[in-house]
Amino acid sequence: MRRSDNVEDRRGMGGRAMIFGGGGIGTIILIIILALMGVDPRQLLQSGPSGGGGGPPAQVSPEDQELADMVTAVLGDTEDVWNQLFRQMGREYQEPKLVLFSGQVQSGCGFASAQTGPFYCPADQKLYIDLSFYRLLRQRFKAPGDFAQAYVIAHEVGHHVQNLLGTMEMMQRARSQLSESEYNQLSVRLELQADFYAGIWAHYTQKHRNTIESGDLEEALRAASAIGDDNIQKQQQGYVVPDSFTHGTGEQRVRWFRKGYETGDLRQGDTFKSDGL
Ligand SMILES: [Zn+2]
Repeated sequence: MRRSDNVEDRRGMGGRAMIFGGGGIGTIILIIILALMGVDPRQLLQSGPSGGGGGPPAQVSPEDQELADMVTAVLGDTEDVWNQLFRQMGREYQEPKLVLFSGQVQSGCGFASAQTGPFYCPADQKLYIDLSFYRLLRQRFKAPGDFAQAYVIAHEVGHHVQNLLGTMEMMQRARSQLSESEYNQLSVRLELQADFYAGIWAHYTQKHRNTIESGDLEEALRAASAIGDDNIQKQQQGYVVPDSFTHGTGEQRVRWFRKGYETGDLRQGDTFKSDGL
């Protein structure tokens, strides 16, 4: 597979790790997410990156190098797919950057730590991921495999597509006219559409490369869906949505992903109009 040129490697540049040092709403969200995942947040204090103190740059293990290579390949593949689909719409796809970081990072949407999980920042059009997230995914969900790892990237790219297509702007405009719970419903739809777009990517990558085994799909998706993402984005936009982490949404996520995967048809992905999510 082709490797993307759009990866910014900022690993080892984060300085001291600030584990739960920030306090505030981000920490609260994180603790809720971890509690839902059944993780004792104190575990992170023991296994967190660089353990505090501005020590030497992190050593990159062969395992992390392999993950970085996988991420770069998946990003390259999403570029191929979305470039083609945007061309078919008569538009031009602007490829997003992906930032690999360790410990903490400064994004266009504010400061983030590894515990935030992967996220997309609409302001700078970049995806951010600390590869230690994949360790968490694997430990918690017993090696869900390559596909779950690729899905994480494809979902964040899905948010980028929403940004390019004006969906995020539409959300912002609607916000002042809606109650908080109505708005939360909308943000669930935003998440489901990102899953649909991830499914669209999977459809075309499967068509071109035949790398996905059908049995992988549900297991990988369930694992990925149990993990909240986009917390930074939610803080930035002022919506904190426990809905997208609650029981039951996993089913919806699988369904919308599957719809994208099976149809490959962008027109099927209007989660905002659909009655039955
Ligand atoms: Zn998301």
